Amino acid sequence: MTAAGRKSGNVLRSIGAKTLLAMAAAALPALAVAAILGITLVTAVYHAETEFDGATSAARRLTEIRVLIEKEHGLIVRLPAELDLRRIEAYAQQIAAVRQELESNITALAAIDGIVAPDALAEIRAAHQEMKRTAEEIVNAARSFAQTTALELVDGPYDQTTRLLRAFLDAVGSNVDGIVEHARSELEESAQWAWRLTPVALAGALFASVFGLWMTRRTFVLPLTRLTEQAVQIRKSGRLDIGQDSRILQREDEIGTLWRSFNLMITDLSSARTRLAQSKAEIRMQFERLDAALNNMSQGLCMFDSDQRLLVWNRRFLSIFGLAPELLRRGMPVRELIELTAGGEIFRESADEICAENERRWSERTSSSSLRELSDGRAISIMHEPIASGGWLTTYEDITERLRAEAKISHMARHDALTNLPNRVLFREHMDTSLARLRRDESLAVLCLDLDHFKHVNDTLGHPIGDDLLQAVAGRLSGCIRESDVVARLGGDEFAVVQIGCNQPAEATQLAARIIDVLSVPYDLKNHHVVVGVSIGVAVTPTDGSDPDQLLKSADLALYRAKADGRGTYRFFEPAMDARAQTRRLLETELRAALRDGEFELYYQPIVQLGTDEITAFEALVRWNHPRRGMVEPLGFISVAEESGLIVHLGAWVLRNACAEAATWSKPVRVAVNLSPLQFKSRELVQTVFSAIAASGLAPDRLELEITESALLQDTEATLATLHQLRSFGVRIAMDDFGTGYSSLSYLRSFPFDKIKIDRSFIHELSTRGDCQAIVRAVTGLGSSLGIATTAEGVETSEQLKLLQLEGCTEVQGYLFSPPRPAAEVEGLLAAKSKYRAVA
Ligand code: C2E
Ligand code: CA
Ligand code: CA
Repeated sequence: MTAAGRKSGNVLRSIGAKTLLAMAAAALPALAVAAILGITLVTAVYHAETEFDGATSAARRLTEIRVLIEKEHGLIVRLPAELDLRRIEAYAQQIAAVRQELESNITALAAIDGIVAPDALAEIRAAHQEMKRTAEEIVNAARSFAQTTALELVDGPYDQTTRLLRAFLDAVGSNVDGIVEHARSELEESAQWAWRLTPVALAGALFASVFGLWMTRRTFVLPLTRLTEQAVQIRKSGRLDIGQDSRILQREDEIGTLWRSFNLMITDLSSARTRLAQSKAEIRMQFERLDAALNNMSQGLCMFDSDQRLLVWNRRFLSIFGLAPELLRRGMPVRELIELTAGGEIFRESADEICAENERRWSERTSSSSLRELSDGRAISIMHEPIASGGWLTTYEDITERLRAEAKISHMARHDALTNLPNRVLFREHMDTSLARLRRDESLAVLCLDLDHFKHVNDTLGHPIGDDLLQAVAGRLSGCIRESDVVARLGGDEFAVVQIGCNQPAEATQLAARIIDVLSVPYDLKNHHVVVGVSIGVAVTPTDGSDPDQLLKSADLALYRAKADGRGTYRFFEPAMDARAQTRRLLETELRAALRDGEFELYYQPIVQLGTDEITAFEALVRWNHPRRGMVEPLGFISVAEESGLIVHLGAWVLRNACAEAATWSKPVRVAVNLSPLQFKSRELVQTVFSAIAASGLAPDRLELEITESALLQDTEATLATLHQLRSFGVRIAMDDFGTGYSSLSYLRSFPFDKIKIDRSFIHELSTRGDCQAIVRAVTGLGSSLGIATTAEGVETSEQLKLLQLEGCTEVQGYLFSPPRPAAEVEGLLAAKSKYRAVA
């Protein structure tokens, strides 16, 4: 028997006991009534019976006693007449025996409870004693043959006591009879009661049974039935919600326990079901995720089992190979799958070829990858990965786009995006390979090209037109060269060509000339008629170099020369060009040292106000006090300082010194400082100017910065912002060398300059050339209408001065007044202004 079975047995047995108990409990009131009645009845009967028994035994004793008295009496009366002693003795003995019997009967009578009253008993005992004593006297008289005495005693005392005793006995006897009668009637009455009680008890018992059954049903059967019904319902519907009866649940007995265990079981079942549902959902979710992951992979995927049968595949696999889903099935042998794709339609290779390769991979059981080109040209990267269970995982990735992108990137890395020509990197590679392959009779020429005034096109027509021009140039260049030659764009407006020929330098000369001709034909770019020239430098192996770097450098130097010689032409490299380049390098080194060693000095040239003839300013002009070459003028080093970037440091030095010296001057005249366009690029300019002013204590409006149009050419926005910043601080800004730049007038409107300095080239020929006069007039007119001061530079003659006065120029500067002088002479110049008047 199982534990559960045993338990249920106990429960049932217990329920049986309970049922009885319940029945008994239900019958209790009826039974109680019946019992009380019964007990009363029994007690009554018992009492009556006891009484009856006592009375009958008392009556029996009394009769006994009476008989014995009569017997003794019969013996006693015989004694007076008896003379035979032996008989007397025999009577005496019989009398003694009767007496004894009498006594024991009296004792027995006394022992019967509640029948004979104690005083009556005492009387009987006393009479009996009297009889006994008298009887002994009679026996003794008879023994002594005193017959008369004996007779007298018999008739006298003995007879009297005998009668007395009889009377007592009669009284007691009638009392006993009364008792017997009472007991009998009581018994009869009890019997009647008993008859009447039986139906009551039966009815009680019946009621108890019915009530018990009802209770049993209500208490045990109904809950159990409901429990069973619910169990059946749960089994049928599968739903685990059960009705809760709090009264039953709170019950302390087995039914309560049964319900609670049933509840517990159902709760367990329900939570188990929930858990099952949850894990099912989780499994489904995992499956869906896996499915989603599989089908959203960018790679196609197939998994094969250890028998080389298809287990899993994804959508991407189908789409890569253009397979209809119904063609594949689980358990499909790998060969069948290969046959679907092999032999031309998808893979170029035959099924046998692919299977053989597959077999080889299978036997090696290591990861491997391969790249395949499909019949339609797509590139597929295939990875094979053995899996632990003995099968294979194969992934397929369409890397066509990636390869294309990679190719594009590598193309971009080696080509110019705008013109699609090879860039410097690829150009050098070409040079390398060409140089390596060069035959004995061949030589290689490198042509470096630079468009003339391309910057002007860019600045005036805008970058889009500039770009169009570069593309057009690239197209024309490509048309100029042979197939074996290579043209490249090295950057900006620089191009280069590699030419291989057996007849150098003649072939290179022809090519250069052709390029110049072709490129100088006007371009039509978005309704703009553009003309651009080109300068070309040529270097040829082996004389001008034998490696790419050397050749490019030589061609570059030749280009420099071509530009210097008036543009629109070509030059071959000459060793002297290299020498000049080396001189520049030396100069750069020297400049660095000079800056470090403090070899620079400032000269000051006065600027005089027309009309008052007073010095209003001094222009600071830098000089290099070279230890061997003496005082070097700016034209000899400014350009090298600009190319090497040293101008930023030199310019800062000039600013600091000019401000410091001006602060010591006796009159508050201004100091003008020239700024290089490169100083604007360095972004430190504002800070440098501010700290120069701050360090010297010079009033900001005493500092005048001279900038050229070329400063405004580059990064105009930033330059203008810088100028505004400087101006807001109080510093004055002058436009220097006006008239030598590109589009002079527009720059004047772009910033509110404080002064325009008319370039000395116009002043120089003022008296001889009418156009110079016209320009001077235009500028002074513009200046006065805009409220800007105009300074004429390079005034050397009084004639020039007179003309300038006529044109309304406000200030003059030139040798007519003073050349730039050392700082020490400034005070002298300030004091001797009248001298200029005399000159004028
Ligand atoms: P610039 O700014 O036009 O300076 C005026 C130049 O004209 C000075 O030459 C001056 O000596 C010269 N000059 C003055 N009056 C006459 C004259 O009547 N006739 C002739 N023929 N020339 C005259 P310098 O000192 O040789 O300076 C040349 C250029 O060097 C300057 O031209 C300026 O552009 C540049 N420069 C000079 N100092 C500095 C400097 O500190 N910083 C920068 N960035 N450039 C400087
Ligand atoms: Ca100047
Ligand atoms: Ca100037």
